[in-house]
Amino acid sequence: MMPKGATLQKVKDPQDRRYAITPEIPGGFVKPEFLRKLADAAEQFGGVLKCTSAQRIMITMLKEDDVEKVWQLLGIEPKAAPANCVRSVKMCPGDVFCKRGKQDSIKLGMILDKRYSKQEMPSKMKFGVAGCLNACGDTRMKDVGAIGYETGWTIYVGGSGGAHPRIGDELAKDLTTDEALRLIDIVVRYYKRHAGIERMGTFIERIGFPLFSEAVLAEYKQAPGTETSAAAPAISTPSAPQPVALARGQAVTHESLIGDIIRVYPEAIPALRNMGMACLGCPSSAGESVANAAGIHGMSADKLVAEINAAIKGGSAK
Ligand code: SF4
Repeated sequence: MMPKGATLQKVKDPQDRRYAITPEIPGGFVKPEFLRKLADAAEQFGGVLKCTSAQRIMITMLKEDDVEKVWQLLGIEPKAAPANCVRSVKMCPGDVFCKRGKQDSIKLGMILDKRYSKQEMPSKMKFGVAGCLNACGDTRMKDVGAIGYETGWTIYVGGSGGAHPRIGDELAKDLTTDEALRLIDIVVRYYKRHAGIERMGTFIERIGFPLFSEAVLAEYKQAPGTETSAAAPAISTPSAPQPVALARGQAVTHESLIGDIIRVYPEAIPALRNMGMACLGCPSSAGESVANAAGIHGMSADKLVAEINAAIKGGSAK
């Protein structure tokens, strides 16, 4: 059983699983007294502190029985976030602190963090906000990025890093902070309504950027408060055929890819999630075989195959 608010680390010994917790630190701003608590908790429970790419501080290498005690010491009630949700809003110091800043990235970033952090999405999602075109923090490689210029914000959509890196497409420019927020709200609504289990960039590539931008900008151009939601995309460019080595009616094996299982047997998704496979929208998990996924999660591949096949038949292997 996964301790609440923790993520499983690399399983080296199935009898001694280790976990990490990563408290929210919006914008990477942290008070000295909270830093002391983090240090005390790590010292007391033999944890290792690690700064993450999302401007947080992780305590890793914790034992299962210690996770709850660490949350208590930090004075935080752990929450289980949805598997596919807004993971982070990464913001640079912007014109408040940085001499090159052209816009207030902290103000925009903090509003986005408050509005969207941990909100459920079709896949994992990351925001980036930068105060100038230097775009510190890989802003154009976020699902939604905002970069500040003298003339206002430019909004990019569909960026990602990882196994399938993609530079975000420019959607609109010269926006005020309020206009940027309104456009981002429309983009997120459209993505939530019409995407499958896929990152924003994959969704955009599937339906085509012209279709995506036309739909969200048409909604944006309506008077605020009177918008009618953009209709589902009438896809004009068929998605690239994806090689699927699994057909409906075939049993899942150790070699079946997680991505194929999700596409061919979507009814197996809840069972996969119940078994701790949280990252079903993640490109790297989609390319893993069942045997690989079992190894990563420290579980028996035979049991995982049996559970998936039982879920496909509408039952449980137990
Ligand atoms: S993106 Fe620009 S404003 Fe932000 S930290 Fe980098 S140089 Fe400074």
